[in-house]
Amino acid sequence: MKTKTERIELPGETNFHISEPIQSRIVDPLAQLLDSAGSGDEDTGLVDRNGFSESCFLFGEIKSVETRLKSPRRELINLYPIDSNKYLVKIAFKDGSNLGAIVSFIASAKNEAMVFSSPLKYRTRSWKKKTISSVRYYYQDSLNEKIAESFVRKNEEIAEKFGLAAKKLNYFKCSNYDEVQWVLGIDYDAKSAGTVQSSESFDNTIITGLNTENFEHDVFHMYIESEFPSGEDRNFIAEEGYANSIADAYYAKINGDVITRNELTGCLREYLAENSEADLLQLFQKDPRVFHPLSEEVSQEVFDLLSVRSTITSLFCDEVERLNGFEGIIKLLRCGEGEDAYFKALDDLIGVNKTNFDKTAKELVARKN
Ligand SMILES: [Zn+2]
Repeated sequence: MKTKTERIELPGETNFHISEPIQSRIVDPLAQLLDSAGSGDEDTGLVDRNGFSESCFLFGEIKSVETRLKSPRRELINLYPIDSNKYLVKIAFKDGSNLGAIVSFIASAKNEAMVFSSPLKYRTRSWKKKTISSVRYYYQDSLNEKIAESFVRKNEEIAEKFGLAAKKLNYFKCSNYDEVQWVLGIDYDAKSAGTVQSSESFDNTIITGLNTENFEHDVFHMYIESEFPSGEDRNFIAEEGYANSIADAYYAKINGDVITRNELTGCLREYLAENSEADLLQLFQKDPRVFHPLSEEVSQEVFDLLSVRSTITSLFCDEVERLNGFEGIIKLLRCGEGEDAYFKALDDLIGVNKTNFDKTAKELVARKN
């Protein structure tokens, strides 16, 4: 079993101008909360009810940071008041002497006790706000209402597929993933350093790092997450394919436009024209980088993430929906984990198997979308 310190170390000398007894009022209860985080038996009494869902998300993230560290140490590195009875508490999570993460919390005095939360509300307090139907946008500079309205319609369309009312969403538009983490309270995380295009979502909250009003791809995953929470039957190959199909490929170009599945299909068509020996079953299974026509328009990070496997799967998803409706899609999405389950479901639904995969996929790629 892993041994770890449960203490939060205090700096030898501080310049903290705090009248609270730091050890007993702030540091000890926070350590207690951090120990219980992610255990399934969280000390939720110590989590501020105001901002509960982002705080639970943050404590879950810290749990995974600490699980990663071989010799985890917690160190209080900053503490200052931000309001009457409210403090910003900054903790470094170290692996021996190496830095794993730095996380900021808000500690709020409520009656006798101190409760803790993510600084999301505090760090976005001066952001602009605009509600468009089911979506409340929070943003710093500008909002592209045309893209926002199209996202709102997509949210309704996806909900309708599941026979549900559209989710009411809080949407935070950030410029990049570093900013996503910062608003949540993760000032630094060694594991995600260098990641630019990524986002977080939980409950009804979206925090995108793609600097866009469009979260169509991931909002589909959010519906799946809430409809099939157990996850046991979910097939992630199919899910990724259908997210590309009903929405887009998730990642954005340098000019900010989110890449569509049809653009990727066009690139794949070009690739096949130049590589006549290419086998689409092999491309599906090995998932190499093939979208070279886009390389001038996307960052290296995005180029490395664009998946031909998901593009091919998404074309098959279109066929499944055309022939079997959304019911067929649900069967494919819930066929169980892994490639074998996916191939079996695809064969059952549209008669595509490893023998005719290449031929059928090539026909679908050749069709103009
Ligand atoms: Zn996805």
